Amino acid sequence: ILEVNDLRTYFFTDDGVLPSVDGVTFKIEKGKTLGLVGESGSGKSVTSLSILGLIPQPPGKIVGGEVLFEGRDLTKFSEDELRGIRGNDISMIFQEPMTSLNPVYTIGNQIIEAIQLHQPLNFKEARELAIYMLDRVGIPAPSQRIDEFPHQMSGGMKQRAMIAMSLVCKPKLLIADEPTTALDVTIQAQILDLLTELQEEMGMSILFITHDLGVVAEICDDVAVMYAGRIAEYGNAEEIYNNPSHPYTIGLFSSLP
Ligand code: ATP
Ligand code: MG
Repeated sequence: ILEVNDLRTYFFTDDGVLPSVDGVTFKIEKGKTLGLVGESGSGKSVTSLSILGLIPQPPGKIVGGEVLFEGRDLTKFSEDELRGIRGNDISMIFQEPMTSLNPVYTIGNQIIEAIQLHQPLNFKEARELAIYMLDRVGIPAPSQRIDEFPHQMSGGMKQRAMIAMSLVCKPKLLIADEPTTALDVTIQAQILDLLTELQEEMGMSILFITHDLGVVAEICDDVAVMYAGRIAEYGNAEEIYNNPSHPYTIGLFSSLP
């Protein structure tokens, strides 16, 4: 469903040109999960933002490569065309919750707005769908959370609300940038179960960015290890897990129990 070919995203700053993503290639088959791992600053977030054309420009710019979504190159899309894809065919959970939550609207209204943007539902139907999705991410009705503002919620709660918001459109591809890092272990397991469940229900594909190798082992079919803007190692998750070849990956996996 997604094919990233030789993607290169550079930042042009006063200190010079920084090749954050420097020739990245991978693909995700329909219904599969690719785990993208790598140390801080290796280019995971910039890769995921590049897919949806969300790099701040300037100083960032995609200088080469292709992002083929269902065969169409998203790097050639206009801003309007990209807007039709975002939050519809492709949904993203951002690393920083406040990137996508608006402080002056209630959680419920933001989710309802996200629903009505792409689905022909009236307010009552959209509200019901919002309540259902919040329930599925572990914010059960009738807790009334839906009418709270982001600042009234804990970090983990906001993160769960964002996950709910990203799933209401039943995306074909979900890009999740460290979606569970801020959550406690129980909720984390609950969210991973939910993602796997929805994946089976609707054949969703997932690009899952994480530091957590346990998560990779649990939910990823394939894994791509990023190092300094490049893919150091890429392939079947189980094989790489059992037999890593790049020094960085070996170090990463040898620290596991
Ligand atoms: P983390 O695990 O900490 O989230 P990451 O792998 O997601 O790290 P990125 O955020 O993709 O790393 O950053 C890759 C590189 O791009 C870093 O060196 C970073 O400094 C640089 N970078 C990211 N955003 C910008 C920006 N707006 N301007 C200049 N450089 C940037
Ligand atoms: Mg990141």
